[in-house]
Amino acid sequence: MQEGIMTTAYEQFINLQKKLKEVSDLAGFSESFYNIIREPERIIEVNIPVKMDDGTTKTFRAFRSAHSSALGPSKGGVRYDESVTYEEVKVLSTLMSLKVALLGLPLGGGKGGIVVDPKKLSERELEALSRGFVRAINNYIGPRIDVPAPDVNTNAKIMGYFTDEYIALNGNRHDIATFTGKGTDMGGSLGRSEATGFGVYLTIKKYYEKIGKSLDGATFALQGFGNVGSFAAKFLTEDGAKLIALNSKDKSQKSGSSAIYDPEGLDVKKLEKAREETGSALNIEAKKITNEEFFALPCDILIPAAMENVIDETNAGDIKASLIVEAANGPVTEAGEEILNEKNIPIIPDILANSGGVLVSHYEWIQNMTGSYWDDDEVRTKQEKDMSKAIGEVFATAEKYKVNFREASFILSLSRIEKSLKLRGRI
Ligand code: NAD
Repeated sequence: MQEGIMTTAYEQFINLQKKLKEVSDLAGFSESFYNIIREPERIIEVNIPVKMDDGTTKTFRAFRSAHSSALGPSKGGVRYDESVTYEEVKVLSTLMSLKVALLGLPLGGGKGGIVVDPKKLSERELEALSRGFVRAINNYIGPRIDVPAPDVNTNAKIMGYFTDEYIALNGNRHDIATFTGKGTDMGGSLGRSEATGFGVYLTIKKYYEKIGKSLDGATFALQGFGNVGSFAAKFLTEDGAKLIALNSKDKSQKSGSSAIYDPEGLDVKKLEKAREETGSALNIEAKKITNEEFFALPCDILIPAAMENVIDETNAGDIKASLIVEAANGPVTEAGEEILNEKNIPIIPDILANSGGVLVSHYEWIQNMTGSYWDDDEVRTKQEKDMSKAIGEVFATAEKYKVNFREASFILSLSRIEKSLKLRGRI
């Protein structure tokens, strides 16, 4: 199984390099530039010994990749998962470089991961592993070097262990800016929990303004009702859009079916209550539909907000939505995208649609560095301004180069990295 996963991540990396090359050629960037950005600048592999509760010592493999320092310190999450690979963190750190450059942030892309199933560890073992990871990469992280954050299976608590260990090792309290995604009582920013979902809503709102349509009455189908999906649904429905179907996968789902449907609109508050009380938003009275039916529903907007590779050659042909918004990272495969392109269904790419999270993480970094903290309104207003600018630039670039939104986003990001490398005399 591990071999299969590695092949997939390797293939993803090769596909990403192919896309970078295509876009570089299209925008007229030099071969020298492509040769710089095709691989991360630095990737560290470490092995972390942890004394387990039963007295034995286990060693866990971990990686941290910093893709580009052209625009600033690298920034990106650390995931704890058995499927983490060297190639996966390479892909994800490269995409992070593009995401932060697209927002015009003075940052580069980073990503890290530990090969572990955190559910199999006790709390003490998890803390020891987290502290061991920071000790192993201590020389390569810092507010002006590389700034890790939460990702799959990591959270504010793990960031707390990271920060505490880093401060103990380096003796400077101000270095809480070495990590973002911390709890608000230890330097985390207000507005972070809803930031990604709010950004997904903003990209849709701006797209609708561009095509001269109102969101009022627009129908959407959503996959995933976690942090991103539930906040996206909240903001969209508050602006008049109608959630007609939800697909999710939770252990506590009562029915074997994976999606619910209501053409009159599902009530987001009821879904939130069901999730809170039963562990799954799907546990409400509504018509059950299959996964296949979910993806084939006629609707205005389809929002995959759960996981990667869910729209591929097996279901892209059935999709009847007029717009796909990649709230999750990498939900549309290359083969799926080809089919959607042929069907002229626009895709708002992940590096734009879900960039609200890293944007507010950057605000956390600024607040930690300056010691001046913002209220919810200030965060929300600034996010709206910064993301609206990036969204407008993507739309304009797509028109200028006659390309789709993903290619336009890549061109914009790469052009910012290229300009910096030129000014530094690297190319
Ligand atoms: P989450 O764990 O809070 O929620 C995930 C949701 O997806 C849950 O509702 C779960 O039921 C559902 N799900 C999981 N597997 C599924 C499957 N096979 N089929 C259908 N539904 C399934 O995660 P999240 O933080 O909301 O992140 C969702 C996606 O957005 C991920 O791809 C993540 O990398 C990406 N993302 C998240 C953030 C953030 O700020 N949280 C930022 C950028 C990107």
